[in-house]
Parts: sequence; structure tokens; C-alpha cells
Amino acid sequence: MSFLRTLTGSFSSPAGDNPTVAVMEAAFGELAIDWSYLNCDVAPDRLADAVAGAAAMGWRGFNCSLPHKQAVIPLLDELAGSARLTGAVNCVVNDGGRLVGHNTDGAGFVQAFEAAVGPVRGRSMLLVGAGGAARAIAFAAAVAGLGALRVVNRDAARGAELAFAVDRATGVRATSDAYDVIVNATSVGMLPAADAVPPVDLALVGPGVVAVDVVANPPRTAFLSYAAAAGATCVDGRGMLVEQAARNLSLWSGREADRAVLRAALVRAYDQG
Ligand code: NDP
Repeated sequence: MSFLRTLTGSFSSPAGDNPTVAVMEAAFGELAIDWSYLNCDVAPDRLADAVAGAAAMGWRGFNCSLPHKQAVIPLLDELAGSARLTGAVNCVVNDGGRLVGHNTDGAGFVQAFEAAVGPVRGRSMLLVGAGGAARAIAFAAAVAGLGALRVVNRDAARGAELAFAVDRATGVRATSDAYDVIVNATSVGMLPAADAVPPVDLALVGPGVVAVDVVANPPRTAFLSYAAAAGATCVDGRGMLVEQAARNLSLWSGREADRAVLRAALVRAYDQG
């Protein structure tokens, strides 16, 4: 018997509304492993100290969320292909003292999308947003065989830069004005501003279209409510959150968690929040 737990956690700021701790602890319970996940509010100017502290204490790994997903990169020893492609890290694995950065947001999106509505391959996507989530989705969907991608963003130059980077890395570009997948990858529609609708031409949303929102709280955003009423198939942000958490756990422990257990924990956490 050992009184030493395996430590993991998350560095972000603000951190108070990040539900991942509830999801991870449910996974540890389901797998009956003596692990802990610490949700830490880390200011940007203390990120290097936090990373050095986690390494010194032998943490198995940690998540990075806003605003640390890019800032953490110079503090790591190595980047996995997913992080190199995306230019952002949301999961760090402490591999015998070497800190290796991964990006599981994009794979989480693809896995959740495919579980809900089938393959990404060959589809034409209109992606709204060019921040961290949008970048991860764009590269992962392109690698998964997306047929065409158009990016629109409030800061149009940032959107164009993302579209250019995906085209350069994968050859996937905007070759069509007809979209069968429309993704809100902005923060518009999150509680408490749940009535807000992202800047997308709603006339494009209708039967035959899959509307996806990365916003996880509320699950039925104003965008998805509109899309459902217009006859589109809807995929909410909770599946992506659960899938990326399950991937993080698998990178750290080599174990696979039951997605239904994680999703139930997420719903409970939001209901109590
Ligand atoms: P970033 O800050 O990196 O990017 C924010 C994006 O939203 C940018 O494209 C920004 O546009 C756009 N945006 C913000 N406010 C507005 C507005 N008022 N009008 C139009 N566009 C706006 O954030 P992230 O990409 O990390 O996160 C975005 C969302 O994705 C959040 O809601 C987050 O919770 C969610 N998320 C969900 C995950 C999941 O697993 N479900 C995983 C990761 C994130 P501009 O470039 O012009 O500023």
C-alpha cells in the first residue's frame, strides 16, 4: 500500500468554471485508480513556475486551457504531431521527466462528430472562429479527410491566416459555397450570454446540414436551437469535451474510460454549477 497518489491537473485562468475536474475524478473512480486532478488558477506570469512545480512534484501530466495553450510550448521538452500541427497544447504528459505536449481538442472534435453523425471524410465545412478551438478542429478535420474548408472570423485576417495554414499543411481549402457542416468554434453563446448567436449566415442552416457548437454550457445554444428548428442535425459541445478528457486520461494512464460515465459527470457538474 502507498500513500502517494498520482497527480494530474489543469492550469488556466480563470479556472472556476472549468468542469474538467469533475469529469476526470469520475473517470478515476470508474477505473478505481488512486489519482487526483487539481484545477489550478494560474496567472500568465506564473505559468513557468506552475510547470516547473508540476515537474518537480512528479505530476503525471496536466491540461492547459485559456490563456496558456500556446504560452506553454516553450516550457516543454517535445511536441507530439497533434500539437506541432495545431500550434497549441491542451495536454502535457510527463514522460519520465520529459514534458511532451499534445493537442487532444481536435481529435476530440472528430471523434465526437463521427460518433454522432458519421465520417468527416469528404464533407464541406464552414468553420466560424479562428481561436484555439477552431485551429484544433480545422487541422484535425482536414487530417481526417475533410473535402473543403472555409473559415470566417470576426477578425478576418486571423481567419484568413488559419485557412492559409490548413491549406499549406494539408491541401484542404475552400472549394465550394455549399456546406454540409457548419461549426460554431467561437465562445459566442456561452452562459451567461446564452442568447447570443455567432456571426454566421443562418440562411445556410437547414435540412441536410450538420450544425455543431463547441460551446458546452448550455448544451442547446441559441445557434443549435435555430439550427434544429430549421431542420439541421445538431451536435453539441459536450461530446467533444468528454472525448478530449478521455483522450487525456488515456495519454496519462493508458486506460480507456467509459464515455457515458464521463458525460454523466459533466452533466451533473453543470447542473450543480
Ligand atoms: P479563443 O479565445 O482562442 O478564441 C475565441 C474565438 O471566438 C475567436 O475566433 C474570436 O474571434 C471569437 N469571438 C469571441 N467573441 C466573439 C464575438 N463577440 N463575436 C464574434 N466572434 C467572437 O477561445 P477558444 O477557441 O479556446 O474557445 C472558444 C470556445 O470553444 C469557448 O466557448 C470554449 O469554451 C469552447 N471550447 C470547447 C471545447 C470542447 O471540448 N467543447 C474545447 C475547447 C474550447 P476573434 O479572433 O475575432 O477574437
